[in-house]
Amino acid sequence: MSLRLGIPKPGEKVEADLLVIGGGPAGLNAALYGRRYRLKTLVVAESVGGQVSIANVIENYLGYQSIKGIELADRFKRHVEAVGASIVVDRVVEVKRDSTGRFRAKTVKGLEIVAKSIIVAIGAKRRKLGVRGESELAGRGVSYCAVCDAALYQGSRNVVVVGGGDSAMEGALLLSQYVKHVTLVHRRDSFRAQPVLVESVRKRKNVEFVLNSIVTEIIGDERVRAVRVKNLKTGEERVIESDGVFIEIGYEPDVEFAKMLGVEVDSEGYIVVNDLMETSQPGIFAAGDCTNRWKELRQIVTAAAQGAIAAFSAYNYITRVFGAEKS
Ligand code: NAP
Repeated sequence: MSLRLGIPKPGEKVEADLLVIGGGPAGLNAALYGRRYRLKTLVVAESVGGQVSIANVIENYLGYQSIKGIELADRFKRHVEAVGASIVVDRVVEVKRDSTGRFRAKTVKGLEIVAKSIIVAIGAKRRKLGVRGESELAGRGVSYCAVCDAALYQGSRNVVVVGGGDSAMEGALLLSQYVKHVTLVHRRDSFRAQPVLVESVRKRKNVEFVLNSIVTEIIGDERVRAVRVKNLKTGEERVIESDGVFIEIGYEPDVEFAKMLGVEVDSEGYIVVNDLMETSQPGIFAAGDCTNRWKELRQIVTAAAQGAIAAFSAYNYITRVFGAEKS
């Protein structure tokens, strides 16, 4: 189990001990720990770094008082590759177990992977508002990533941010540096976000809070022009002119992928794991935002911790089921 894996080419058949699906902190830390246990480890990820790579500045990961998300993601990648795990940017579309108990996975780019164990660390997808105008104006003023798109709104008169969590607060903070005015619309009058972020936003003179309110429609033609907002306490509706709408209302699990793997999910669609990150399928482990664990504190540090535990469990599983044989 101690050989390193090369970088597989499209169309190639790869034999690994451990296949990690997902390249955020959970997946990359799982790969790092997989290598600590000398497992031949392959990471298949749609993006390296996951949400870390699109975070503006990270100030709550121990050892880094302040670091750009893209830089931390790059450090993760270099660390994981330096210890001998291979990372390919690709998407796993099929996973089946064969008669030997190994998993056979296929990717969009045509890789065929045979692995003794799998760690699923696919994170979660951006949640949509589901209002009129949202899908029609996506990419034309409707954005799900303030960090990615804020600079495009340099000089705008007003943009709307929707949500009351950390993402919305960080989005409002960043946008307030580019645009003249930010309207933050949140459906309650208290916030899920860390108080330190809410305090920072409150200090920005050009951010206005519109609370107990929801966006009911995004209005525009070629581009977003305005949003219709309804106050949930009074029922009053008003139209707020806006050049953009940043929908930062959290994430949803990829239920279809979990279904394809045949692993149990909870009522919201998150993969059910125990303390050892074991799913309902022997040999398949899960870590990070796709799991039902620690939903209350989705952080880099918690995702990374779950990745480490998952790799430990995968190693124990492989040793128990396959012994010390080479892949
Ligand atoms: P989140 O914590 O789930 O918050 C989502 C927010 O959107 C909540 O305020 C929620 O309102 C609101 N919301 C949800 N569905 C809505 C809907 N259909 N219409 C209107 N509002 C809706 O999501 P997040 O802010 O994206 O954060 C996700 C995770 O990443 C969290 O664990 C967060 O701590 C973490 N994160 C951390 C950092 C950091 O540490 N710096 C930065 C970004 C994200 P309610 O409160 O009323 O439910």
